[in-house]
Amino acid sequence: MNQKLMIEEINRLKKEKDAIILAHNYQIPEVQEVADVVGDSLALSKAAAEVDNNLIVFCGVHFMAESAKILSPNKKVLLPAIDAGCPMADMVTADDLRKYKAANPDVKIICYVNSSAEVKAECDICCTSSNALKIVQNIDAEKILFVPDQNLGSYIKNKVKDKDIELWAGFCITHHRVKSEEVQKVKEAHPDVEILAHPECNEEVINHADFIGSTSQIIDYASKSDKDKFIIGTEMGVLHKLEKDNPDKKFYLLSTGLICANMKKTKLQDVYQALKHEKHEIHVDENIRIKALKSLDRMLELS
Ligand code: SF4
Repeated sequence: MNQKLMIEEINRLKKEKDAIILAHNYQIPEVQEVADVVGDSLALSKAAAEVDNNLIVFCGVHFMAESAKILSPNKKVLLPAIDAGCPMADMVTADDLRKYKAANPDVKIICYVNSSAEVKAECDICCTSSNALKIVQNIDAEKILFVPDQNLGSYIKNKVKDKDIELWAGFCITHHRVKSEEVQKVKEAHPDVEILAHPECNEEVINHADFIGSTSQIIDYASKSDKDKFIIGTEMGVLHKLEKDNPDKKFYLLSTGLICANMKKTKLQDVYQALKHEKHEIHVDENIRIKALKSLDRMLELS
């Protein structure tokens, strides 16, 4: 089936099955184009909970579809590329946290939303890259363990001096690999152009950034700015929306390494197959779901 026909079929199946397609900002352009909502992981999970559709095709990685299922237990959530995981989410396990809690009962655990349902269930509260600072500032705790992203954790730790924050050694393999030398080169090639970076980048890169924020915050900042050129320090998928929404502005990627292989696994064909056969459904054990939901609910209360 050619691409045009496949898009028509996807749109027909969406109507027939009363389904909605959600796509993360890092998905390939063709997938973003067939989606009803494109956004960051939290925005998509919220959208999943708010829409009336009972069938959700979640184009992203496993923990995101799981978050949607945690918030919308009665809906059918499909992940078209079922092997699309997040290496950072896999860097901490529920077992690791159970052991940590047994040895450190007075430490509160904050987990980045990029984590499995089992890990969320063992944490006190979740956070996203856009609300992490607020959560850490507002949580009633002196001692905190931040999991799994050491870079987001370190960015927050540098801003919150009155709390004892321990960092887990996890990282996003895509953002963490950007080197300071690459930033120097891009800055020389495009002098006076602002760098907008995601806090999953390492500290060396963050120190060069003019603006630090989540993917949605970066898109929002660039779209509202009166400047017309930007260096983008997050996964290349965001360029699609940035360029589409801002045809008169120019965007340069900070590093050619900013490609997440897992986010690129979902192809149009996978979306079509998942929708047609309602396959690759995400399930979350109900006991785990209820505990993980508490971590997400506390985040929504504090942010
Ligand atoms: S970009 Fe990084 S954090 Fe996001 S899914 Fe890929 S590996 Fe995980």
